[in-house]
Amino acid sequence: MPKLNRSEWINLARKLDWDYSYVREEEVFPELLSGRPWLRHAEWAHWDEPYRTSYAEYVDTQSDKDAAVLGVREIIGRIEDFAKLDRSWLNSLKLHAATMAFTEFAAVTGNLRAARFGRDSAWRTMATFGALDEIRHTHIPLLLMHELVRWDPQFDWTHKLFHTNDWLAIAARHLVDEMIVGADPIEFAIATNVVLETGFTNLQFLGLSAIAHDVGDRMFESMVTSIQTDEARHAQIGHPVLSTLIRHDPERAQYLVDKWYWRSWCFFAVITGFSMDYLTPLPYRRLSFKEFMEEWILNQFQRTLTTFGLKRPWYWETFINELDFYHHMLYASAYTYRGTLWFDFALPGPEERAWLRAKYPRTWDLLDPVWERITERWRLSGPGVEWSTQSAAPLGFCNLCQLMLSNGTPHENAARVLEHRGRKYIFCSEPCAWIFSREPDRYADHKGVVNRMLAGEAPANVVALTRTYFGVTSDVRGTDMFGGQYPWMQGASDVKGA
Ligand code: MN
Ligand code: MN
Repeated sequence: MPKLNRSEWINLARKLDWDYSYVREEEVFPELLSGRPWLRHAEWAHWDEPYRTSYAEYVDTQSDKDAAVLGVREIIGRIEDFAKLDRSWLNSLKLHAATMAFTEFAAVTGNLRAARFGRDSAWRTMATFGALDEIRHTHIPLLLMHELVRWDPQFDWTHKLFHTNDWLAIAARHLVDEMIVGADPIEFAIATNVVLETGFTNLQFLGLSAIAHDVGDRMFESMVTSIQTDEARHAQIGHPVLSTLIRHDPERAQYLVDKWYWRSWCFFAVITGFSMDYLTPLPYRRLSFKEFMEEWILNQFQRTLTTFGLKRPWYWETFINELDFYHHMLYASAYTYRGTLWFDFALPGPEERAWLRAKYPRTWDLLDPVWERITERWRLSGPGVEWSTQSAAPLGFCNLCQLMLSNGTPHENAARVLEHRGRKYIFCSEPCAWIFSREPDRYADHKGVVNRMLAGEAPANVVALTRTYFGVTSDVRGTDMFGGQYPWMQGASDVKGA
């Protein structure tokens, strides 16, 4: 039999829609599972992905990619290879490894729902490949990081995070469960494919992988680079979904983009903000987190908005202002409450603070005194005596993003309070309050850490809370990674002029 050219059969393989004879379309694709606005298939029939692939091609390419990652692991994937890396970087790795595998695994579910309930067959095919991709992205970090489990109990706990009630796990699940597990395929496509995968994950895949290269962590670099090639393919699901949504319900399209941009920003301010501006050793830092955001996220996101005729989110000025504050405020809070987390923190010394000042000239004067006071605290406790805030009252958390209430600046609290059905809710910021007020029924029943304490489900004493409720035991809990013993701390007041 003569062999067909690819171009002759590829459309036949990817477009497999048919008319239903004994069920209605609404029954095959119920709105609850397929998403709104509910439209007849004719409205989705033009659905088109720019980069097409068949299953045979997919399998070939993926198998080559896996072989490449495994090859790198053979050469540099052992404990002794990791042991050579800088201590700050290793702690950044704990933060990433903890949030990566489970998020990828959640994305399997999101893609599988789209693989069944997406409204065009080509979309469903792409989502099927997407689900297979995300299984791979679950396996790779689990495999590579497994080596480290027996080396360092914090790397062991890293894999437990998602199944605990640690505050960061609660925040991560609140985001991921809504965005990926609980979203219908339309919202999933906007939130995950458009906002997260063509936007924020570039912070990891381009920004952090470049830093990993410089730091000498070729394993992390090859892992994220390999994952990125898959993301780039299945992320293309987003644009054709967005364009149909805009045609039929532009207000909802704008809302979903605004909401998910904000929610993604809050989360990446923790995982990438901490890593880039605090946990990357100074000699290897290139761009600041803010500069990475500007270069890789802002420009690209604004181009997408222009292409689709969408407006910038209404909170754009707030967001731009936050680029100079938010992750700094979060890191200072997390450093202070480091005992509630499972990785160690670096105290920025004079050189780091000078670098931060140069990168954040507009705001560092406001932020620097925080580090001055923390340094003073170390001097009082004496080097090596890990002080903690464990006797202090617990932090407050936002009822939307579930992160600490550290939006705003040292001079201005950005928190907002809303009342809904007789219950008061507190939010870190105006946009978080706005998202809640748009969909109160979606969020109102969720219990944050403080609500759990008030309900008697979690201890209100921070020591007990951390140990028994967060599950952060004393062998893993976060400390200052040098126990406050920094060479620069010897000369007492030299730091002031930094
Ligand atoms: Mn993935
Ligand atoms: Mn993905």
